[in-house]
Amino acid sequence: MSGQPIHIVGGGLAGCEAAWQAAEGGARVVLHEMRPLVPTAAHQTELLAELVCSNSFRADDWAHNAVGLLHEEMRRMGSLIMACADRSQTPAGGALAVDRETFATAVTRAVIDHPLIRIQREEVAYPPEDWAHVIIATGPLTSPTLAENLLARTGEGALAFFDAIAPIVHLDSIDMDLAWKQSRYDKAGPGGDGADYINCPLDRAGYEAFIDALLAGPKTEFKTWEEAPYFEACLPIEVMAERGRETPRHGPMKPVGLTNPHNPTVKPYAVVQLRQDNALGTLWNMVGFQTKLKHGAQTDIFRMIPGLQRAVFARLGGIHRNTFLNSPKVLDGALRLKVDPRLRFAGQVTGVEGYVESAAIGLIAGRMAAAQALSAPFAPPPFTTALGALLNHVTGGGLAGVGESFQPMNINYGLLPPLEEPPSADGARRGGRGERGRMRKYALSLRALRDLDAWRGAEVLAA
Ligand SMILES: Cc1cc2nc3c(=O)[nH]c(=O)nc-3n(C[C@H](O)[C@H](O)[C@H](O)COP(=O)(O)OP(=O)(O)OC[C@H]3O[C@@H](n4cnc5c(N)ncnc54)[C@H](O)[C@@H]3O)c2cc1C
Repeated sequence: MSGQPIHIVGGGLAGCEAAWQAAEGGARVVLHEMRPLVPTAAHQTELLAELVCSNSFRADDWAHNAVGLLHEEMRRMGSLIMACADRSQTPAGGALAVDRETFATAVTRAVIDHPLIRIQREEVAYPPEDWAHVIIATGPLTSPTLAENLLARTGEGALAFFDAIAPIVHLDSIDMDLAWKQSRYDKAGPGGDGADYINCPLDRAGYEAFIDALLAGPKTEFKTWEEAPYFEACLPIEVMAERGRETPRHGPMKPVGLTNPHNPTVKPYAVVQLRQDNALGTLWNMVGFQTKLKHGAQTDIFRMIPGLQRAVFARLGGIHRNTFLNSPKVLDGALRLKVDPRLRFAGQVTGVEGYVESAAIGLIAGRMAAAQALSAPFAPPPFTTALGALLNHVTGGGLAGVGESFQPMNINYGLLPPLEEPPSADGARRGGRGERGRMRKYALSLRALRDLDAWRGAEVLAA
């Protein structure tokens, strides 16, 4: 056991999982949680790992659903959050839903009872210099004092206080018989080849119908404590349409500098562009389409766009109060802050989204910190696993890290490297497109669990 404890700031989903993993690995942990002394705008109790909204951990099907796969990987890694969720389950069809009080009480009890974990109820303004090993897991509602102090260390642009998310589409669901690849005026730009965008053309009637749908679509309201955070540079697409029916056509939907090779003599009236969102090239985001439309409406309305009629969305758009780092820029591959490597980050503040994803990054950060504190080796999980893919997303796999537009992400199959061998054409022919998708997910899940088990085996041998 090491003399220097690991200080974990924030006793939410990520902080508790990190504390558990580190302590189970033999490290001493001090967990600092500011509630109930300092409240947040969303938490209601003083329990650790409180679920601030829904009581669902989403689909529990490891074979065909990416978050279900993450559940299974975490179970195999001895996750506290998954063990307590399994014990607190309520009926919810194919989803894993929990009784929130039973769940948070179980996590709190397990953390309190662990002989290597001590809980300290206090707000941490910034980790003191004599804390050698630190994990910051303060979540989307990180206290303003800590956020300001972090910003002072990391500099402008390193920490965001709202997300502004445009929908992200799986490449293989875009109809390239209607869409085409081209950059405006064929400009190559740094790192580009002149065909960096996928373009979806609208004629005048299609554009007018689309604007009508944007204006009529149901919108999500901001909570009072969120305040409307509209910046002119990233207005929601429907707010743009409210300012004038032609405004989107002079903004993100402008048709200039583009020629449709499927119909070269007819200029599109408007164009929706998608830009590559991850290094693998499997995910593409709709440029300028951040939105407060309700999720169901987004699917219907965005599928009106030619080329996106059968779009499968890796994530839908949104704008929320959120505190998160530009992780690909400011963190190293081991989740440490480059300007102050004592500090490792975990949870939603790293730019993942969701209860399960936050806990998953906590799991990895806890193991990394324990290995460092105990001078033991640690190899990160392979990118082919859901855990490794999430880690890759926050530490540099997303292309956005190169620019300034890194946005939070749920786990999805698009974050995993494509299969070397696609599933056999036979099944696809029999079952069509839907069956091919299911077979692909199953093959990706099988590969992930096989690689996770091999990695876990190697970890045991190294210990
Ligand atoms: C309003 C809201 C609703 C959400 N709804 C959902 C949902 O329905 N489903 C879903 O999957 N995800 C949801 N999320 C997103 C996210 O998954 C959760 O917020 C999740 O709890 C994040 O886990 P975390 O451990 O990173 O942060 P949290 O669970 O928020 O834990 C962070 C902890 O750090 C503490 N803390 C903050 N600052 C300090 C400090 N300076 N010193 C000490 N302690 C500090 C906080 O009190 C808190 O206990 C929601 C987020 C918000 C803001």
